[in-house]
Amino acid sequence: MLPYRILLNEQVFVLSFQAVAMQGPGALDIAALETAFPDVRLQERVVVVGAGAAGVTAAYLLTRFGLRTVVLEARHRPGGRVWTVRHGRTQLDLGPCWIHGIEGNPLAALVRRVGARLVQTDRTRIALYSRWRRRRVPAEQLRKLAPFFLQLLLESKDVAFASPHDISLTRALLRTGIRYLFRLPSSLAVIRWAWGAFELVMGTDTGSLSARYWDQDLDLTGGDWFVTSGYWTLFEPLLQELTVHYGMEVTEIRWGEDRPVELITRDGTQYVADRVVVTLPLGVLQQRRVRFVPDLPGWKRRAIGRLGFGCLNKVILLFPRVFWPAETDYVGFLPECPRGYSYFVNLQKLCGVPALMGYVAGRLARRLERASDDETVARALRPLRRTFGAVPEPEQVWLTRWASDPFACGSYSYIPVGAYGGEFDQLRAPVANRLFFAGEATHRVFPGAVHGAVLSGVEAALRIAALARSEATTACRAAAG
Ligand SMILES: Cc1cc2nc3c(=O)[nH]c(=O)nc-3n(C[C@H](O)[C@H](O)[C@H](O)COP(=O)(O)OP(=O)(O)OC[C@H]3O[C@@H](n4cnc5c(N)ncnc54)[C@H](O)[C@@H]3O)c2cc1C
Repeated sequence: MLPYRILLNEQVFVLSFQAVAMQGPGALDIAALETAFPDVRLQERVVVVGAGAAGVTAAYLLTRFGLRTVVLEARHRPGGRVWTVRHGRTQLDLGPCWIHGIEGNPLAALVRRVGARLVQTDRTRIALYSRWRRRRVPAEQLRKLAPFFLQLLLESKDVAFASPHDISLTRALLRTGIRYLFRLPSSLAVIRWAWGAFELVMGTDTGSLSARYWDQDLDLTGGDWFVTSGYWTLFEPLLQELTVHYGMEVTEIRWGEDRPVELITRDGTQYVADRVVVTLPLGVLQQRRVRFVPDLPGWKRRAIGRLGFGCLNKVILLFPRVFWPAETDYVGFLPECPRGYSYFVNLQKLCGVPALMGYVAGRLARRLERASDDETVARALRPLRRTFGAVPEPEQVWLTRWASDPFACGSYSYIPVGAYGGEFDQLRAPVANRLFFAGEATHRVFPGAVHGAVLSGVEAALRIAALARSEATTACRAAAG
């Protein structure tokens, strides 16, 4: 018996330090972890709150380990922020599209399993247009932009650590940038656009990011891969094995150290579990949409309050024909940033559909959520019309309002001024060995990413199985006298 416990504890240990695990012999294959418990039947009941990437991964493993597991999902679909919609034979994603870094990524095994189609993208393959009709910013200017911006970011860190306390990344960048005012590699408009593109990646304005710790996470190597066959398809084989109750919004979780946990849903249904995996998005926790009785401990509440939760919204415009350069991965526009859509993904090149996918982030994204669909589409069409002239009306439009979505309340987490990253660990830490937490905002190494959510789900499942296993063993020993 003992070796399995040791094995399991090692896995929990290693998974807590995924940076180490990622340098191991290969990517983690979730299905292979089933073998961690070859000979045990565990009788505990587990409820997983949320059927996103973290919840489905945790529930899959717990089910495989033999625990009676039910997933409660507020929406009427699985996936959470992974939201794939079908258009004819094409799958379009309104949440994540990319696997960021394929090497050592746990998603790689899922990709292989379903035979997903991926296309590698490159941020430098972009047609960037100036305000004058059809004039492209010369490639030479763009080539110098990335190294310049990296240098700025690097130096702004020094500025931040030289300050008596943490400052926003905007302040640090401005203080650094002033030194370069007379030797800029491109026009201010291009630099402002690049700044805006960076804010899209971060899902928030640089004004809210910690200049000291905004990049404390780890980037996997192997490039950015766009999943063209639909992101959610990666998780479908895992989902097939699960019991998921849809339309079940959990509104209250009653917990205590020495008693089972009770979960109440909006329609008054009650569930009882020995342990619960909470995969609620950080925004949902921050807005206290689920009541914990008694309240979560102070250290947990402080961690929830200290982290930031950004907003990144998309609009996908499907046109009757392509009128933009079909060979580039991206199309960008000056000087929309920071007032409008300045960055589009070319879905013709990546998925073979005549569509552009535009992004807005941060305060602008939140503000635009209050606009009507028509206003948002008009705003997205503005730079396209200015640049390409007679642009046809889109045949179909998909757009997101992640911040107003009551089951997301934003897009993904970030480190705001004054936080440092340890908050992710506190968010992940179990409470009383009854409440376990998973989700992208609980993963210190890969926050904000699907693979972070998956690994946090793996860790929660392993922790619960280890506890259930050792408690079952103790009970057996006690019974045997
Ligand atoms: C626009 C956008 C683009 C992104 N792009 C990328 C990308 O390219 N690559 C990448 O790696 N990551 C990307 N991300 C981040 C990625 O989507 C998330 O990190 C990941 O999907 C989070 O998974 P999760 O399981 O932690 O949370 P979620 O997917 O949010 O799962 C939580 C689940 O809980 C449910 N829920 C909420 N409240 C309740 C309740 N009260 N009761 C029951 N259920 C509830 C929700 O409906 C949801 O299903 C993007 C996110 C967005 C929004």
